[in-house]
Amino acid sequence: MSITTSLELLKPPAPPKPFEPMRQRLDFPILHQLVNGKPLVYFDNAASTQKPQCVIDAIREYYENDHSNVHRAVHTLSERATKAYELARLKAQKFLNANCLREVIFTKGTTEAINLVAHSFGQSQVLPGDEVVISAMEHHANIVPWQLVCQEKNATLRVIPINDQGELLLDEYEKLLNVRTKLVAITHVSNALGTVNPIKTMVRLAHQKGIPVFVDGAQATPHMKVDVRDLDCDFYSLSSHKIYGPTGMGVLYGKARHLELMPPYQTGGDMISYVSFEKTTWNELPYKFEAGTPNMADAVGMGVAMDYLESQGRDKIGEHEKQLLDRATEGLRSISGVRILGTAKEKAGVLSFVVDEPAMAAVDVGTKLDLAGIAVRTGHHCCQPLMARFNVPGSIRASFGLYNTLDEVDQFVNTLEKIVGEGRSRAMAQGVELTTLNGHVTYPTASGENPEAAADEVAEVFEFLEEWTDRYQHIIEMGSKSLPMPEYLKSESNRVLGCQSTVFLDLRAKPGSPERIEFLADSDAEVVRGLTALLQTLFSGQLARQVRDFDVEGFFRRIGLDKNLSMGRRNGLSEMTKRIQTFAAKIANV
Ligand code: PMP
Repeated sequence: MSITTSLELLKPPAPPKPFEPMRQRLDFPILHQLVNGKPLVYFDNAASTQKPQCVIDAIREYYENDHSNVHRAVHTLSERATKAYELARLKAQKFLNANCLREVIFTKGTTEAINLVAHSFGQSQVLPGDEVVISAMEHHANIVPWQLVCQEKNATLRVIPINDQGELLLDEYEKLLNVRTKLVAITHVSNALGTVNPIKTMVRLAHQKGIPVFVDGAQATPHMKVDVRDLDCDFYSLSSHKIYGPTGMGVLYGKARHLELMPPYQTGGDMISYVSFEKTTWNELPYKFEAGTPNMADAVGMGVAMDYLESQGRDKIGEHEKQLLDRATEGLRSISGVRILGTAKEKAGVLSFVVDEPAMAAVDVGTKLDLAGIAVRTGHHCCQPLMARFNVPGSIRASFGLYNTLDEVDQFVNTLEKIVGEGRSRAMAQGVELTTLNGHVTYPTASGENPEAAADEVAEVFEFLEEWTDRYQHIIEMGSKSLPMPEYLKSESNRVLGCQSTVFLDLRAKPGSPERIEFLADSDAEVVRGLTALLQTLFSGQLARQVRDFDVEGFFRRIGLDKNLSMGRRNGLSEMTKRIQTFAAKIANV
């Protein structure tokens, strides 16, 4: 960005035009593509939002015209880079309504902001016997740093419980606040449930007892106007990539009176005022907390993203996302067997759910939605204690952004209904198969007389199926036809660790042919059941030394699994393969 452009950005943002998601969509180039042959529906905004063209351009223009290191030189480019960087700070100050620029510290994102406060405030203020209060719905980023501080300081982590709707129990919260409480660290909006917490009330209650409050605003800032002075919180964090800005950038707001007293988090570069070998003095706020060369380009990009949100009207965006949430909630409620997690009265545009009937693993539902071009997130969403509270290993999460439309929501609901319906038909068909096999434990036999021959047979089918969607379907069908594993074999020793879903492998030397191996397998995810069936087709009943020596990775490449499976699935598949080949090696060496 040239200096003139950056100064122009100082002008107040253009008055909001009527908010129109269809018009807004045009600002986001990435949205206009086909995924698996279908128009992309991007519902993974809580993980990261997409970037408008103005943000992409601002970063490019900064590098094309203005880049140099900041704060340290008299030459023109350094001046421009410094101005652009500090202009971004001004925008962030306005975005959060902070009192002054000294209270706005640039970080890599929310995780770094929390770590900064946990190290600096936590390490200097928390003493043995003290307590830090968090809640049951925190992201791991707002649990682990406090857990470590408490461990190191011999302090105690206290957790505000939630009800079945996913709302904090405020009575319990009040009871937790006492003279030993050093800090409350709480999320504004839950990334896994969408609950909007009553931060203003919670801050007031904590302040009545002289306790400062840190608010994790990673999920609130994309959806609503945030005013840190009105909330009166002591600290507040946001991540640029969740507010349509670039990755690797974020803000920590802190009241100056706390920040003044806190020691530096990292040292070196900009955070220093004077160094001698005897003593070093720190730079003033906010630089005391910005060690090293900062992320200027992304600060510029974040500033432009903040302007973008302001120009749309942040309240308008929130209202639009509420409409999407209401429509999606209504749609999911109409699908039998689907259960929504988190039904708080106050919610932002996040909808988490599981499929109970038929029981479908989150990863299977997510993968099938992806085949229809719909991007959602599956898993524990970095909230494992919250998932444990709801007694589920994970959920499927659709999260909405300003560019999503009601049509997309309808498409999502219809596709999900179809997926659940097909799952039900499959479960009924499998139920029949299982009853006929009841009582017998049968181990499968590979499809060829050695792994190479079996691999050729499998590859022939895969080559015939050109599209990945057809190959995927074939894998699922293989899984649905695989032999059942009795419950007593699903033991801890048979569990394969390192997979995203639950996987069991029961390997044994083949009775009567101890030079061969065979195995049963099962998983809660049908795609994984399909992959274990594929491994059975190659290996079960084969000579152990042939299994040991077979180039599995080469075979996966041959049938295109290396390109089409997600990294998580590939890692899981490697873990299973490793287990089988290690066992085969042991048998072969006997
Ligand atoms: N807190 C919450 C509530 C979040 O949703 C996230 C991101 N998923 C984080 C913290 C961590 O943010 P980041 O990865 O941007 O540092």
